[in-house]
Amino acid sequence: MSRAWVRESIHRIERDFQRSADTHLVPVELVAMPGVRLYLKDESTHPTGSLKHRLARSLFLYGLCNGWIAEGSTVVEASSGSTAVSEAYFARMLGLPFVAVMPRGTSPAKIAQIEFYGGRCHFVDQAGEVYAEAERLARERRGHYMDQFTYAERATDWRGNNNIAESIFAQMRAEPHPEPRWIVVGAGTGGTSATIGRYLRFQGTATRLAVVDPERSVFCDYYANGDPTVTAEGGSDVEGIGRPRVEPSFVPGVIDRMIRVPNAASYAAMRVLERLVGRRYGGSTGTNFCGALEIACEMAARGEAGAIVTLACDAGDRYLDTYYSDAWLAAGGYDVAPHVERIERACATGRWTPA
Ligand SMILES: *Cc1c(COP(=O)(O)O)cnc(C)c1O
Repeated sequence: MSRAWVRESIHRIERDFQRSADTHLVPVELVAMPGVRLYLKDESTHPTGSLKHRLARSLFLYGLCNGWIAEGSTVVEASSGSTAVSEAYFARMLGLPFVAVMPRGTSPAKIAQIEFYGGRCHFVDQAGEVYAEAERLARERRGHYMDQFTYAERATDWRGNNNIAESIFAQMRAEPHPEPRWIVVGAGTGGTSATIGRYLRFQGTATRLAVVDPERSVFCDYYANGDPTVTAEGGSDVEGIGRPRVEPSFVPGVIDRMIRVPNAASYAAMRVLERLVGRRYGGSTGTNFCGALEIACEMAARGEAGAIVTLACDAGDRYLDTYYSDAWLAAGGYDVAPHVERIERACATGRWTPA
């Protein structure tokens, strides 16, 4: 095992970090709720287009420092796409072969990006099959199975060290309500919610953490009844969030509340958000916006003033053929029109109508 190669690899990753700017915190005006300030942490501006740039950097550093990744190692990952894009970028930076194991039906735009960075895509039929297949491929090639779903919560330093939570609090410092009432995020690995939730406690803030969950995901059920063996069939249809099994990186104890969001509401919220901020974001951003808006309406109803921070996880250009396509929505039986109306009414009146 070459220590010089490991040292050089860590330097390369650090240099990428030094060249990168932090992501923006964008205010979203809710005209009907002047006391409630909503902010969107725009993670789509990372070099590889999503919040997974942070995770991929942490996972490579963790694997290198643990002695799990050596010169020439094939790196294999189970992914719904975004993590594989970011990991392919870092694998190429270090000159390592990379294989992504993903469900068939992953966005063509993500597949193209993985291949652009020199990664290979390997498909399985069901979302639940990615784990065993990635492990098998890594064993066969004597490579390293990165396993984001296990290691996301521990590869990131939750105390600070430029993590997403520390960045949010630094960017909120000059705002009218520097300490948000709520932070709203989704869960794929659960790493982001674990990092933010631990940070909120460690820093002694009063900020509460809400996690939104799409259809066919087990996180909500697990949060409610504590059964870690619960599973679901099929994928979530909101790429990046919602899982068919309880992931090891999902830490329920740091979450104050979970909100189930129908998929059609997530797709509708993407459209409403586009009209508010002039940008297209991905499906999980729609889910986040939907949850944040529900909480904003509750705060407004109680006459409560304060800030809510949520995430724009990736950009909409990855989903033009899916969530932004009327044909795709119709084929999936999704009727977004009533949800668009419901969400627009919430923005216009400050009153929330349940789905
Ligand atoms: C991974 C991902 C999430 C969820 O983040 P986790 O830290 O894995 O829970 C949300 N949106 C997108 C687009 C993602 O890729």
